[in-house]
Amino acid sequence: MTLTIGLTGGIASGKSTVSQMFKEAGIVVIDADVIARKVVEIGEEAYEQIVESFGEEILLPDKTIDRPKLGSIVFFSEDKRLILNSIVHPAVRKQMLKEKEEHMKNGEETVVLDIPLLFESKLTSLVDKTLLVYVDYETQLSRLLSRNGFTKKEAEARIQSQMPLKDKIQFADAVIDNNGTIEATKDQFHAICEQWGIQGKVL
Ligand code: ADP
Repeated sequence: MTLTIGLTGGIASGKSTVSQMFKEAGIVVIDADVIARKVVEIGEEAYEQIVESFGEEILLPDKTIDRPKLGSIVFFSEDKRLILNSIVHPAVRKQMLKEKEEHMKNGEETVVLDIPLLFESKLTSLVDKTLLVYVDYETQLSRLLSRNGFTKKEAEARIQSQMPLKDKIQFADAVIDNNGTIEATKDQFHAICEQWGIQGKVL
């Protein structure tokens, strides 16, 4: 039996930090962001659908998708965001499921699906347990400011475009509070692994 875990958070909540802890424990992590880039590569079905819907002007000279340009189009238009999501989400779901099943077939005991929009895109059916990396608003803002060099206004706009982290708590089977030190986060990580019976390399 494989245990599948959906790992999520919000921008700068520490999801990548926790994802790294799983990887260091020798646990397979399937990254939705990596898959989202893979499914829009030239020749993929989602690539063709995006070009059809958004036009060739969203392509770079080498015909790959100009992601920042597409990102800014959908950032300012909800209609366009819905169109893009209706293309990308099913493609990501299909590919994640495929990779998850491959790892299960290989006999992995634990597979983590790292999905930023786990709850929003209703991907929870892909996993047995959900794990949220939580920080409060002030911590999120200050970590985002120091990591990305955004202005305060830019950082706030990005945080506010997402579901508030505190609203995600109710949907999660377990929550890691990442307001403290990395060590404190690692202790919680270990406690959850123990609780869920996860055997890692260095746990
Ligand atoms: P996410 O993947 O959710 O966007 P990251 O894991 O990249 O978040 O963390 C956001 C930023 O905060 C990074 O620069 C990271 O190094 C830093 N960070 C994460 N957790 C902590 C922590 N507990 N204490 C201090 N800095 C942290």
